[in-house]
Amino acid sequence: MEKTKVLYEGKAKIMYETDEPGKLIVYFKDDATAGNGAKKGTIEGKGSINNEMSAFFFKMLKDHGINSHFVEKINDREMVVKSLDMIALEVIVRNVAAGSLAKRLGFPEGTPLKTPVLEYCYKNDELGDPIVNRYHIMVLDVASVNELDEIEHISFSVNQILSNFLRSKNINLIDFKLEFGRDENGKIVLADEISPDNCRFWDITTNEKLDKDRFRRDMGGVEEAYQEMLKRVTA
Ligand code: ADP
Ligand code: UDP
Repeated sequence: MEKTKVLYEGKAKIMYETDEPGKLIVYFKDDATAGNGAKKGTIEGKGSINNEMSAFFFKMLKDHGINSHFVEKINDREMVVKSLDMIALEVIVRNVAAGSLAKRLGFPEGTPLKTPVLEYCYKNDELGDPIVNRYHIMVLDVASVNELDEIEHISFSVNQILSNFLRSKNINLIDFKLEFGRDENGKIVLADEISPDNCRFWDITTNEKLDKDRFRRDMGGVEEAYQEMLKRVTA
């Protein structure tokens, strides 16, 4: 398979069209941004770690009956995925209050939530990815009610599968962000990545943060945290 042209270069990945119709190659970069691009930097080795961890989680989810865009990992920094008609939503699932939810509800970070919370953000850099509800999504014409039902069903299943698995690695899955697209038959398919860039992972014993918050909050030990997560996940 050959890359033919850059379809899209984002903040963390480059999506290439290929000579195989319907298939893309994703290249995972070391670039990191936070605050909707306000803070920029590099996390050395991140691309390789996020590629490997995403491939691992997509395979694990497939074994549990959840389809994703993942086809195969082809090298250290690249995977082949199915090209999808992306839905412009960030779907966030939370088990413990952190980040923007802790601020919005006035919960101290680390407060366990009575029930998992699902939020949508409208993926739009100009607007700063605002939080939206189902009614906003209807008037934006981003997804249908049936599609949202399916997205929510898959997102909560992913939460269960990942939370259970990570608990066995002494990791608390605090929250995470998913993206979805439509395949050629209009079916909802999980896309993008699952990595320390878009999940919060805390050590169960120490509450140590093993994710991108170390970069966002200038905590140091960023590379080490990504390496530690990959080691635990794949051990
Ligand atoms: P961003 O757009 O937030 O800067 P990335 O650097 O992660 O993000 O770029 C990846 C882009 O590719 C995102 O816009 C994402 O929605 C999109 N994408 C992810 N999976 C697929 C897919 N299977 N088909 C088409 N686009 C995808
Ligand atoms: N997240 C993400 N991309 C975004 C915003 C959030 O991957 O553009 C992830 C983030 O890593 C965390 C979860 O979604 O796991 C919830 O993030 P939150 O809304 O608390 O955002 P933040 O604190 O980053 O503003």
